[in-house]
Amino acid sequence: MDFFGSAKPFIVAGPCSAETREQTWETAEAISQLPVQLFRAGVWKPRTRPGSFEGTGTEALQWLSEIQQHLGLRTTVEVAEPAHVEQALKYGIHVFWIGARTTVNPFQVQKICDALKGVNIPVMVKNPVSPDVDLWQGSIERLMKTGITDIAAIHRGFYSYGSGNGYRNQPNWTIPIELKRRMPELSILCDPSHITGKRSNVAETAQKAMDMHFDGLMIETHPRPEEAWSDAAQQITPAELKTILETLVVRDEFITDMTGQVQLEHLREQMDITDAEIIDLLARRMDLSEQIGIIKNQYNMTFYQPARWREILESRCNQGILRNLPGDFVAELFEKIHSESIRRQFTGLKQPENK
Ligand code: PEP
Ligand code: MN
Repeated sequence: MDFFGSAKPFIVAGPCSAETREQTWETAEAISQLPVQLFRAGVWKPRTRPGSFEGTGTEALQWLSEIQQHLGLRTTVEVAEPAHVEQALKYGIHVFWIGARTTVNPFQVQKICDALKGVNIPVMVKNPVSPDVDLWQGSIERLMKTGITDIAAIHRGFYSYGSGNGYRNQPNWTIPIELKRRMPELSILCDPSHITGKRSNVAETAQKAMDMHFDGLMIETHPRPEEAWSDAAQQITPAELKTILETLVVRDEFITDMTGQVQLEHLREQMDITDAEIIDLLARRMDLSEQIGIIKNQYNMTFYQPARWREILESRCNQGILRNLPGDFVAELFEKIHSESIRRQFTGLKQPENK
């Protein structure tokens, strides 16, 4: 069993930053009473703008090393450059994580990998700030090439310009899901603290991650969140964390209950048939499109006809709404269908020329 698969869900908790010896110890003591596998604390803080608290550095590594020894709680810090790796290794920190602002930069990730050569320590990789699954995957692959065997991805949301739908960082759930599809063996944890940016919303996003088959959570925890030196709005108390962990519904991908399995099988058979019908209908629609294309060509009409497209979009959305399908879902679907239709009309036209 790999390190991050040792508990389900695998929980990482602790303050955004190690501020003082007292605050770090107080949090760790409370957290050591909970089903938490790893104590996090930022020691070097990557701040977007200068002037805010940038971490306590090496001094805090000493506190974490003592916590590890006395509480038996494993610790993790963010490393953003080779010097951090060196220092954190010196103090026996058990796990490292790479932050969102580092994952964006392959040069920097490679430097960290080079500093880790020959050291097989578990590493967690936060998603890059930009919604780029390749960049995220690339950082993980660099670590694998270095010889690191225990790797977890952390989904902490993506930057978006503007109000951001009430999130500090957009969750874009399809991105971590795609990463998991590409790398099925990889553990993926969710960081609802940095996604929501708001303590009142942490529980809901934590549950959503469980519903989406995530392997664990990283949750920022502070004894007095409103007084925190960084990320004060999103941190929760150890007592609040305890409630979240107690009420979290953890789901399995597969079930062993026979009745449930039979019900699911029955519905899935019907779904397979329905999907085959959808494919059939789409193929028929494309055939019609090609025939229309031939006529348009014959009468020298444009293939793309804005007025007709507007009418299709509007009527299909209205039909969808009557059948309880959200308008934006139907619109997106028909945009895809329509663009394939137009493409067919062009290529259908080109075929005779190519022969
Ligand atoms: C953090 O975990 O405190 C942090 C700086 O995270 P991120 O890299 O996700 O911004
Ligand atoms: Mn933080």
